[in-house]
Amino acid sequence: MITEYLSPPAAAARSSGLQTALWNVQQTAGRLGLAKDITRRIIEPAEQITTRIHPVTHDGRMLHAKVFLVRHNDALGPTKGGIRMTSTVSLNEITGLAMEMTWKTSLIGVPFGGGKSGIRYDPNRLKPSEKEVLIRGFIRGVRRHVGPEIYVPAPDMGTNEQDMGHIRDCISYSGAVSITTGCFVTGKPVILGGIPGRREATGYGVVSTIAAACERLDLNLSNLRVAVQGFGNVGSVTASLLSQHGATIVAVSDISGGISNPDGLNVPELIEHVQTSGNVKGFHGGTEIPLEEVLEADCDVLVPAATHSAITEENAGRIRSRIIAEGANAPMTPLADDILRQRSVFVIPDILCNAGGVFVSYLEYTQETQRDQMTLEEVQHRLNHRMKSTFEMVFSHAQKTHSTMRQAAMDIAVARVRDGIIARGLLP
Ligand code: GLU
Repeated sequence: MITEYLSPPAAAARSSGLQTALWNVQQTAGRLGLAKDITRRIIEPAEQITTRIHPVTHDGRMLHAKVFLVRHNDALGPTKGGIRMTSTVSLNEITGLAMEMTWKTSLIGVPFGGGKSGIRYDPNRLKPSEKEVLIRGFIRGVRRHVGPEIYVPAPDMGTNEQDMGHIRDCISYSGAVSITTGCFVTGKPVILGGIPGRREATGYGVVSTIAAACERLDLNLSNLRVAVQGFGNVGSVTASLLSQHGATIVAVSDISGGISNPDGLNVPELIEHVQTSGNVKGFHGGTEIPLEEVLEADCDVLVPAATHSAITEENAGRIRSRIIAEGANAPMTPLADDILRQRSVFVIPDILCNAGGVFVSYLEYTQETQRDQMTLEEVQHRLNHRMKSTFEMVFSHAQKTHSTMRQAAMDIAVARVRDGIIARGLLP
């Protein structure tokens, strides 16, 4: 419904990921001077699916889950994006994330469109064998919307490479064959055609963009004081790589709470603690602090790497970092974005900062299609190079147009999608 997706600026005051995505694209359409019809064509999702699955576990328990799949736009290629599994995921959330994937793939320059899927279930309530049953139920439920030329899933919050292995197995064996023709899913275990370095790719890319920002802002990476909000895959890899570069990780949080140490947290020990106890709480190498204080820590770089809308107009004024590197998708609301712009905080926007994951998914897709094998060195070299060159492109566009990094990134990404739509032709 056009009214649903083109609702006016009230969006700025709200804080859902979809509202943030809509606000950002509407502002971009205005800056690019897009005609109303093209704007509508760019904004409205191509396909939104809600379905329900009821797989049965090995001990006879029936699981009930609502499942979502959104293909937002495929002008530049098959839709790409992860599978989010949380207890609260909704069609709106998946729609906003699919839209973000359209801009992310466009900006980082890979031949994909934007998609996303979701399973509403708390993964922490499942034993590994139960999660496998749910994942297999999911892929069976959405099978006809998945394929190398339609939608190619990957890990996202609540899913991992083991889950992608089950998806790969489910698809090939439903055809009674060992392999698939082409790539149906990325982020698989390496032994099944996955690519080395995919699990670390998003965090690795976050660090590449922080390094590029340091060069431009005349800062030394090894002197940085960093706070990381969210200690899942993206947050923990980012913290670990930054500390290997000599940066000091002064505060970290996850859902269980925050932990700080002005002299620097020992990241390998913290990771070990999280692996054994499940979360950061109770780590002895720091002082416990309230969750929200991690965002307001005294630091040079803040990495929000949890979920959407962590930074709002309420706390944006208290943020003390000079750089915000958006490891998560849509971690700040439009009003917070505005406050931080006025305070001259340098924001590396999500569609640039966390695009390393999907870039390496693209390498996995091409590797599998060509039955090729890439080494970790090749993957990291290409990833670092692509993150840095895209950062430079966005940075110089921002300078030239006197805009923020987010505005510049969105302008480039949306203009490419528009060009793709027009180059294809507007007939059905
Ligand atoms: N879930 C990741 C993202 O939000 C990766 C998606 C992919 O590799 O397709 O960018």
